[in-house]
Amino acid sequence: MNDSELSRRRRFLARVMAKRDQERREEIDSLGNRPDFRDEFGYFLDLYEKTRSPENFEARFNRPVVATFCLLAPLELFYALDIQPLKLYGGSPALGQLAGPDVPATMCPAMKSLLLELEAVPSLKSIPWVIPTTCFWVRKFFDQAKFLGRASGSVHYLETPKVKTSALAQNNWLLQIYALADHLKTISKVSLTRNRLLAAIKVFQRARRGIFELLELKKVGKVPLSWFLAITGSFFLDRTENWILAVEKAKNVFAKGRGDIKGAAFPGIFLSGSPIHFPNFKLVHLLEEVGLTVLVDDLCSGERVIPRHLAIGDPSLAGILKALAETYFLGCQCPIFAGSERRLNSIYQAYRSVNLKGVIFHVLKGCHCFDQDSCLLVNRLGKAGFKLLRLETDYSPADAPNLLTRLEAFRSLISSPMAPAFSPEVGSTDQPPRIGQRL
Ligand code: SF4
Ligand code: SF4
Repeated sequence: MNDSELSRRRRFLARVMAKRDQERREEIDSLGNRPDFRDEFGYFLDLYEKTRSPENFEARFNRPVVATFCLLAPLELFYALDIQPLKLYGGSPALGQLAGPDVPATMCPAMKSLLLELEAVPSLKSIPWVIPTTCFWVRKFFDQAKFLGRASGSVHYLETPKVKTSALAQNNWLLQIYALADHLKTISKVSLTRNRLLAAIKVFQRARRGIFELLELKKVGKVPLSWFLAITGSFFLDRTENWILAVEKAKNVFAKGRGDIKGAAFPGIFLSGSPIHFPNFKLVHLLEEVGLTVLVDDLCSGERVIPRHLAIGDPSLAGILKALAETYFLGCQCPIFAGSERRLNSIYQAYRSVNLKGVIFHVLKGCHCFDQDSCLLVNRLGKAGFKLLRLETDYSPADAPNLLTRLEAFRSLISSPMAPAFSPEVGSTDQPPRIGQRL
């Protein structure tokens, strides 16, 4: 680029970042001005105020920061090695829409948005990455960012097998976890000991408990989706120990709430599909506007933010690493894996224990794995009599009126007194699987 092109590009970036800041501000204000806002929730909003840049994180946490995607890299390993994991996704509609012609038009908006953010926040350029090879856009993200001159740090790929049932895949995955531990050790220069790992596990077990308690309250309508996603979305923005304390306080506030779900007056739904990232809460606000209450979700930005179960049988270092590998791989419901049984089972299981009236599938345009998987699930669940709605959308506000109309129609359908009572009989126990077990 010559000088004038460069200064034009800088002005453009300054404009989009101002837009991004405004979107963030508007969403923070909208949450802060809700009648159900309580002081205890301010902590989470404050986290979104802070700049998401490596130097900011390193200054706050006084330890190296490593960027990652998705849910496959065991967070306990990062903590045990004194590294701050930073899960990066783009939630900014402005950045998603203005990513430019260098980026494939069909790319999912979460990745588009992040690609532009990498250019606008120069210190992100040299951050080291751990990239699980999950969906196509995630797998090729670093290549794309590097090609565009927006990534120059190191990258470690966590090669993720796509067929969980094969013994070969499970063994390979365990080797991947060992390789990840070795890689992280070279960044932190800290040795991985059993005691360090156990201490990290203790922190994350408390986080699991905190999330689990929130989920129990969410199931009875005491935790609105906006707050739930604002809380889970901030999981990576502070040290987990601080975040847990804030979740425990917020949970006490929600527990005192009235719990709005009383049968058909506020139909409870299961929300499934592509992740929803702050500040793009378009769908969340529309759901709340029409009075559809999400009691259960399977979003990797929501209930799945960390895997739910960790069962350690063998307490040696090798045994603990194996347990972590099992938890993060076999328990994952991400649609990149062959087979949709775990996603199906979690819907069946939720219907058995929660007062649910329907399932909404959220598909981000360009999110091919959820696109394909949701078609499959809609067909299978539809045949079994579930009430379903599949919504395909992006980060643009333009389709909001159309989405609202469809959500209103769905609400009428599932609230109708003529709707037959429905209780599916099939289901599964959601026990943690073991490596070597057939799923
Ligand atoms: S659904 Fe899976 S691949 Fe997609 S963003 Fe979440 S963890 Fe990553
Ligand atoms: S799974 Fe979907 S939303 Fe997540 S990065 Fe891949 S394409 Fe984007």
